[in-house]
Formats: sequence, structure tokens, C-alpha cells
Amino acid sequence: MTTAPGPQSPAEQTRVVVIGAGQAGLSVAYYLQRLGLVPGADVVVLDRGPSTGGAWQFRWRALRLGTAHQVNDLPGMSDLGLSFATADKTAPARDVVSDYYDRYERYFGLKVRRPADVRGVDDLGGPLRVRYVGASGEERSLETELLVNATGTWGSPFRPWYAGSDTFRGRQLTTADYTAAEDFAGQRVVVVGGGTSAIGFLLELDHVAASTVWVTRRPVEWFDQKELGVEMGRAAVAEQDEAARLGRALPSIVSGTGVPLTRRHRGGIERGLLVERPMFSSIEPDGVRWADGSFEPADAIVWATGFRPELRHLASLGLRSKDGGVVVARGASQTDPRLFFAGYGPQASTIGANRAGRVIARQVLLAPSTRPGGAGSGSA
Ligand code: FAD
Repeated sequence: MTTAPGPQSPAEQTRVVVIGAGQAGLSVAYYLQRLGLVPGADVVVLDRGPSTGGAWQFRWRALRLGTAHQVNDLPGMSDLGLSFATADKTAPARDVVSDYYDRYERYFGLKVRRPADVRGVDDLGGPLRVRYVGASGEERSLETELLVNATGTWGSPFRPWYAGSDTFRGRQLTTADYTAAEDFAGQRVVVVGGGTSAIGFLLELDHVAASTVWVTRRPVEWFDQKELGVEMGRAAVAEQDEAARLGRALPSIVSGTGVPLTRRHRGGIERGLLVERPMFSSIEPDGVRWADGSFEPADAIVWATGFRPELRHLASLGLRSKDGGVVVARGASQTDPRLFFAGYGPQASTIGANRAGRVIARQVLLAPSTRPGGAGSGSA
């Protein structure tokens, strides 16, 4: 890659920038390399995290590999003799995933730059300028022909608004802030949300917190047959895909997938721990109140209410449709041919992220160059 002289210091130029080194970003980087693009020269991966593991490095300690849904192997991971299927299921998921991703990045020489926090992307009329802040705190930039956004959702937890929320004297936190049950020892905790994170917190808080109350927006749909889970999973992916293609805000994943009725979950239901109440209607300084007037005192409210795609850094590109989403099909923006979204909508699972890598890498290779006289594609 050549570097064009600029009025001040010359900008570094590349063919593809991938933002994010979680399952989606690594999968894209792996396939791009296999198709002949050179990591660090043709492809630059930028990641905000201090370490390897994508969002997994930040997940709470009690989330074990065996209690996560299922973490699928990255493409090519078997070349290293590694598989999550044979890893220690009792180990914290964050430790195993961070370790395996670290070995994966090094084995394939993916040259991820971190910490590199992307703050904005500017449209230069052909290429895109990606601005990021590195370890020194100084802003740097890169010019790229194509951009793959693989930033996940962890940095954008969703917390619904309820009247009185700002009057609450206790602590309010989201899934992304939760670290360990011990932080709530002896406290009265309200857990909001109908997914596996909320359920995991309730199980962990049992016998540690003074009391727990579980509230959900709609009744939890438990399923106890594997086939039903697969079917619900497929329907949820189709729903996500439709929303992405139409540029709608993405629906909640858990409302589409239901929750598996594992032995652990069944035990929680039988002992009266996993019995949900409907949503409260307001928050007061010392607790939460329902529309029927009933009140529950609380020291903490844990909002396990999901996440939204993290896209703030792309705001200046004006991609949001009037329906609140970005228009994406098969990982490609339908409004800007320079942009791809890996791990977005139907790809938001470890298996979906793997597929994203394959389909996006192929499209990247075929994308025309946005630079005058540019190569137009990789050399594979
Ligand atoms: P991430 O892993 O979030 O990676 C995105 C990366 O982008 C991060 O490293 C982040 O630091 C970086 N980034 C973000 N913004 C910027 C920026 N502006 N500049 C630079 N870097 C940036 N899926 C499963 O398949 N199985 C499971 O068991 C499972 N369990 C889950 C449990 C929880 C609690 C949650 C919330 C999700 C779970 N998922 C699970 C979904 C899971 O998040 C995805 O499957 C997958 O790991 C996401 O990969 P990703 O690469 O899209 O995102």
C-alpha cells in the first residue's frame, strides 16, 4: 500500500478497516487473509478492548463456559488444536474465550491494533477516514476504501425508561456493569429482563442477596425440547434478518428465542426463585411500584434488558433509516457499497458471526476500488 502525501502528516492508507476483534471481526479478518489480503497492510483490525476476547473479556466471572448458550469455534480454530467444545466447562467463559482468541490472533498473525477506540468515520468522497484513539490518548487516523463494522452490542446496553428512575436512592446497573453476586450481599435486588442473563443473575444472587424479585415485560417462554429451541432460534434469526433488510430497529433476541428449561432453571422455578412478576409501573426512592399499588422495597435494580448495536461512531455517515436501523442484507450495507456489518442482526451469535466472516470477505474482495487507479480487489 502506498501512502499519499497530505498537507500535514501523510495519512496511513489501507484497503479494509475492520472495527472490532470479537468473533465477528476475527472471522472476517481470518477469511480476508485466506483470500490473499495481508493483515496489517491490506487489512487493519482496530479494537477498543484492552485485551483479547471481544465482549467476552468483560462478562461476569460466574458466567461459565458450561452455562453460556454455546460458544462456537472460530473458523480455522481446529488448526491450533483448540475447540470450545472440549474446553473446561467450569471455567469462566471470559477467561477461556480471551485465551483462545489470543492464541488465534497470534497463530494467524491477524495484527489487531489495541487499544484503538474508533471515535468517528468521515466520508472523504471516495475513501473513508477512520479516526481512533490509541493507548497514548492521541487521535490517529487511517484512510480506507472499505469498512467492516464488527462492534457488537456490549458497549450499548439498553435500559428502558420508567417514571421516577432518577429518584431511586439505590444502585441501578445493566448487564454490562454486573460483576459478581457478592456486590449485592444482604441487599434487596430487583432483576428486570426475561433472558438468560437475568436468570443467571437471579440464580447467582440466591442466598447472597437478602431478597430478589424478578420482573419481565412479558411472560417468559420456556421450552424443554431441543427441536423446539432450534425452531425458535431459526424463527428469531429470520425476524432479525427481515428487520435488517428493511432498516428497522432490531427486535429483542430473547423475545424470539425463548429460554431453555434446563435442570438448573427448573430447580429455580420449583423453589420459587424463578417466578416472574409483570413490569412495575414506576420507580420510587426506595423501591418499585406496580400499577395495582403494590410496592417492593429495593436497594438495587439490575437491568438485564438487552443491548443495541453499537453504531455511534458511524453517526456522521447518516446511515440510520427513518425506522431506526441500518439497511443491511448478507452483511452488506444497502445504502453505501463501502460498508459492511459483521455480527449485525441475524449474525449476532457466535455461529452467525462465523458466517458473516465468510460472506463479507467474499464481497469485500469483489468490491470496486474507491481510489482513482485503485486495484479494485485482493489478489486471490
Ligand atoms: P463483540 O464480542 O462484542 O466484539 C465487538 C468488539 O468491538 C469488542 O472487542 C469491542 O471492544 C469492539 N468495539 C466496539 N466498539 C468499538 C469502537 N468504537 N472502536 C473500536 N472497537 C470497538 N452468543 C453465542 O453464540 N453463544 C453464547 O453463549 C452467547 N452468550 C452471550 C451472553 C451474553 C451475556 C451476551 C450479551 C451475548 C451472548 N452471545 C452469545 C452473543 C454474543 O455476544 C455473540 O455471539 C458474539 O460473541 C458477538 O461477537 P461480536 O464480534 O459481534 O461482538
